[in-house]
Amino acid sequence: TEYITVGELASLMDVNPTEVISTCFSLGVMVTMNQRLEADTLQLVADEFGYDIEFSDADLEEAAEEETPDKEEDLSPRAPIVTVMGHVDHGKTSLLDYVRKANVIAGESGGITQHIGAYNVQLENGQKITFLDTPGHEAFTAMRARGAQVTDIAIIVIAADDDVMPQTKEAIAHAQAAGVPMIIALNKVDKPNANPDNIRQQLSSMNILVEEWGGNVQSQEISAKFGTNVDLLLEKVLLQAELLELKANPDKKAQGVVIEASLDKGRGYVSTVLIQSGTLEVGDYVLAGKNHGKVKAMLDERGKPMELAGPSIPVTILGLDGAPTAGDKFRVFEDEREAKSIANKREQLQREQSIRTKKHLTLDEIGRRI
Ligand code: GDP
Ligand code: MG
Repeated sequence: TEYITVGELASLMDVNPTEVISTCFSLGVMVTMNQRLEADTLQLVADEFGYDIEFSDADLEEAAEEETPDKEEDLSPRAPIVTVMGHVDHGKTSLLDYVRKANVIAGESGGITQHIGAYNVQLENGQKITFLDTPGHEAFTAMRARGAQVTDIAIIVIAADDDVMPQTKEAIAHAQAAGVPMIIALNKVDKPNANPDNIRQQLSSMNILVEEWGGNVQSQEISAKFGTNVDLLLEKVLLQAELLELKANPDKKAQGVVIEASLDKGRGYVSTVLIQSGTLEVGDYVLAGKNHGKVKAMLDERGKPMELAGPSIPVTILGLDGAPTAGDKFRVFEDEREAKSIANKREQLQREQSIRTKKHLTLDEIGRRI
């Protein structure tokens, strides 16, 4: 069955038709503006732009029903999801490590010792922040390219004994392009040659004016190495989060994004996912990219078993039949068969497309040789 045209799809997603055409092209499907797309192609292209297609087939009716927008009264506040970006050696890992291990975290003895792709910390005042521990803008852009906009706030780390560097500028550009508010962490202020004003100056020449200079971009001097003022930085994250009024509906089946996944010798496939809305439960049937399975166990960032995980909570799940790709969307299905059939369709589609892409490359190469 063929559905809507390329042009109609583009206007539904509010993108330029040429973007849809070039996306089809990159998937190995040659199309024109007025061509109707088949269901599978439609789903795949929409996926690339971060949309889910709801088909009205009787089979999918139930699933479509869940996609109705949440009502305001069903929404509850959720923790901000934060990504740390910046130039190499400016202190991203040091900051993430400090936050992960620090005892500023209330209630728990010690910090999080294991390294996982996302963790949730609770501050002394009880408020929570979720950190994506995938420093560098590659992860950020890879996720966005897959249509997964997970980050609410970006911390841009800049070493105060250095300058605004190329990767600093890239990180800022990425945050701006995604419409994600930034907080500038002026790092390494413990160093005798640190000169945070030099950084503020360089930022201002890029039209980024920090609050101390009368602008509207929050910033905080820190030493990630010694943990100095990291608590103040986190308070600014919470302040920014409050302005964003982040909310989600916890009372539905979970959906979210895969952060990382791997094969563990003892435990099978282990996937860290971030819940964006709804609540995930042990025993739920999950579809993640082209993988699926029943959630056998859920663990928090400390390796402790959990029964439930709500919005903004990262959780490691056991039970999928493979390792989905970072940035893949996941969601819970009532109907196990439906999840399996979509997973199989996706896999088949990818296989077909890789064959088509190969053919295409070969033709191209022939063209070049002639
Ligand atoms: P990344 O490449 O951005 O992840 O940077 P790292 O966190 O790996 O830090 C690079 C180097 O800078 C390491 O040797 C850190 O120990 C050092 N460093 C990071 N933060 C600070 C700081 O606040 N003060 C000082 N003196 N050194 C720091
Ligand atoms: Mg690093």
